[in-house]
Amino acid sequence: MKISALNGFKDIVPGEVELWQHVENVARDIFARFHFSEIRMPILEKTDLFARSIGEATDIVEKEMYTFVDKQITMRPEATASLLRAYIQHGLHVKKPVQRLFTIGPMFRHERPQKGRLRQFHQMDVEVLGAANPRVDAELMGLGSMLMEELGISVSLEMNSLGCPVCRPGFRETLLNFINERLEHLCDDCKRRSSTNPLRVLDCKNPKCREQVEEAPSIQEHLCEDCDTHFAAVQKNLQQLGVQYSLNKFMVRGLDYYTRTTFEFITEDLGAQAAVGAGGRYDGLIEQLGGPKNIPGIGFALGMERLVLLLQQQEQEQAAASGVDIFIAGLGEKASEFAFPLVHTLRLNKIVAAMDHEGRSLKSQMKQANKAGAAWVLIVGENELEQGQVVLRNMETKEQEEITTSSLIDILLEKLQ
Ligand code: ATP
Ligand code: MG
Repeated sequence: MKISALNGFKDIVPGEVELWQHVENVARDIFARFHFSEIRMPILEKTDLFARSIGEATDIVEKEMYTFVDKQITMRPEATASLLRAYIQHGLHVKKPVQRLFTIGPMFRHERPQKGRLRQFHQMDVEVLGAANPRVDAELMGLGSMLMEELGISVSLEMNSLGCPVCRPGFRETLLNFINERLEHLCDDCKRRSSTNPLRVLDCKNPKCREQVEEAPSIQEHLCEDCDTHFAAVQKNLQQLGVQYSLNKFMVRGLDYYTRTTFEFITEDLGAQAAVGAGGRYDGLIEQLGGPKNIPGIGFALGMERLVLLLQQQEQEQAAASGVDIFIAGLGEKASEFAFPLVHTLRLNKIVAAMDHEGRSLKSQMKQANKAGAAWVLIVGENELEQGQVVLRNMETKEQEEITTSSLIDILLEKLQ
């Protein structure tokens, strides 16, 4: 009997592994430039570690964890909790007041597998412990942006503040009032969340819920003075670094431990799996896990599957964008009638030829030609055609020449073969 890998678990085979190595190498290079040290933790931890940090009423703890029911141990669903456990256990705060750590490895969540969503997936995780300064928030977002840029991946950075134990409870009340007025229109999950974790209602993906919360109060307007000052400083610092970002009042993140700054790197190219990386500040978490008091922390994790997928998609697009020898761009029905058999003749002569069949404007056909990586474009205008003329454009040198249609095939074959 043939045995294959579990659903949601994947081999990374030669041919693909090189891209993973590339992502990891670029990241390690940047982590070094930002002066981070590597730390590696075990994959199994006590279940309690995640229940206490991530939060009982979160999707991860409620339904996504791989927990051995007989042993009270869990395969780590994310890195931050384990990393803090190790930090506390080894007294790393004594060795250095500010620790800058990164870790790379597999995480496990029992989710419905789909493109960019697996049950064993891999994260690159960066954490700074012992620094409260808003510059560090901006520095980390700057690191993420730099990494995306050096990988050649285009993402947008979205940011929010989730406040702190001083201001969040008040906002929670305000939000709850707003939600309760609309409760009947919300999905069942949100009805349930409204009592356990009302902030999560804000990032429900259900379109009906989205519509309902469109006008919801913004936590950004309910921050206490300290959180507000911090939030403003982070933004100023991002501007100083030239890091592009936008504010998103709906971003609440699926983990309970966040305070103040939260952020996500978002792509439009992976469908529903839009978050390439995410993180935020968690100033009370170290103490909550039994560590020393008043040690702030902030970090984020990048999903490696999603980074690799984006690079693969790019490769495919680039491959598709090369190889057209000539694109015939025509204006009007007569031009199309002229171009149609011409394209065929060229193809008979082993030339890769393409034309537009949708009656697009000349400008958009030129774009199409560019996208297809065409070396030459033949421009067929209706008036010129009547006079037996067409224009041949060399896309590299941008030089154009007029050609009479009677000698066109000979000239094209000579130039293109
Ligand atoms: P999503 O909204 O996509 O479920 P998340 O908020 O659960 O993401 P985090 O816990 O913040 O994700 O993890 C950080 C990053 O790890 C995500 O931005 C994503 O790129 C990646 N990631 C999370 N879960 C998975 C998964 N099941 N498969 C692959 N990558 C994942
Ligand atoms: Mg998730």
